[in-house]
Amino acid sequence: MQIPYSRQWIDEVDIEAVVEVLRSDFLTQGPAVEAFEEAFAQVHGVAHAVAHCNATAALHTACIALGVGPGDWVWTAPNSFVASANCALYCGAGVDFVDIDPVTRNMSTTALAEKLEAAKEAGRLPKVVIPVDFSGLPVDLSEMRQLADRFGFAIIEDASHAVGATYKGRPIGGQYADITVFSFHPVKIVTTAEGGMCTTQDDELAHRLRLLRSHGITRNSADMTAPSEGGWYYQQVTLGFNYRLTDLQAALGRSQLMRLPELHAAREARARRYDTLLERLPLHLPARLNDRTSAHHLYVIGVDETATKASRAQIFANLREAGVAANVHYIPIHLQPHYRAMGFNEGDFPAAEAYYRGAITIPLFPAMSDAQQDYVVEKLKRALEA
Ligand SMILES: *Cc1c(COP(=O)(O)O)cnc(C)c1O
Repeated sequence: MQIPYSRQWIDEVDIEAVVEVLRSDFLTQGPAVEAFEEAFAQVHGVAHAVAHCNATAALHTACIALGVGPGDWVWTAPNSFVASANCALYCGAGVDFVDIDPVTRNMSTTALAEKLEAAKEAGRLPKVVIPVDFSGLPVDLSEMRQLADRFGFAIIEDASHAVGATYKGRPIGGQYADITVFSFHPVKIVTTAEGGMCTTQDDELAHRLRLLRSHGITRNSADMTAPSEGGWYYQQVTLGFNYRLTDLQAALGRSQLMRLPELHAAREARARRYDTLLERLPLHLPARLNDRTSAHHLYVIGVDETATKASRAQIFANLREAGVAANVHYIPIHLQPHYRAMGFNEGDFPAAEAYYRGAITIPLFPAMSDAQQDYVVEKLKRALEA
């Protein structure tokens, strides 16, 4: 048996939605993007959703919209994909990290508060903090909002893993963060092949994000520096990019979003089943918190090498050999050569490093069968004892 760590779930309705766009007048810059944005905003209970060609681009425009530039500091979590930090470098800003909480594997609010106190003393407070909803579990949003208001930084919540996750009974994306960013890469919760979204409650931020997404160009006379010269006229009022999503992708995204309850329920059922099947093994399992729900993008087990015969590396290799496409999320960003060259080192963020040494992502995807899941568990048990 060959089992991927993740896989998209496309059905006939999704396919039909894309084909319909192919037969229509617009492949890009047509009505499907706006329809997807409206549906996404509604599902997440937020005023604005601005679609992008991927989440990396969305993180970039989010940083610019919040004024990040040379001389500024942006902090994120070391336990994330490199894009969470690279977006600040694109803007010429400096990057620093805040260590994680070993239980949630998210940015630690305690560590954040301590680092902010120290940064205040040193006159080096961040302009933006980018906490990451790792594996789909929302961060401590209300505590982070309080710190943001006290220390004067903005929050970009990197919710690439967390479409449809909830916090204190409401969907994320419309509360606490200034801008929330989602990814629609095929391994994530809903897909557009490549795609991303910024959500915000702030009209001005939404306006800036829309300009930045499309070359900094406006056709709206209210945004121009002089009266329009005619129906052909547009102005470039800032430096933007071509970070647009196509109508083909947006149609797929909207169709997938309509299936979100089904996709979530399937992931939740798989995660619960793992929780039960793995309960008695010497592993750290994903945390469940009463005030929030995870979108279950990843199911990460933490191997305690003092309690197992095999090392993490051996367990991983045995799983791969048995056709189970285990993965590891994430190599701490600060240990990547590009970041080490900025002065980061082993030992800088010990909780993220300790977590990484034991982490294995085991397969979880909505169309996974009981038989596939049982196979993963059986091979994992064998690997732990090998
Ligand atoms: C996937 C991912 C991104 C980047 O998403 P793309 O849509 O592939 O650009 C950013 N941050 C995190 C945490 C991710 O998992």
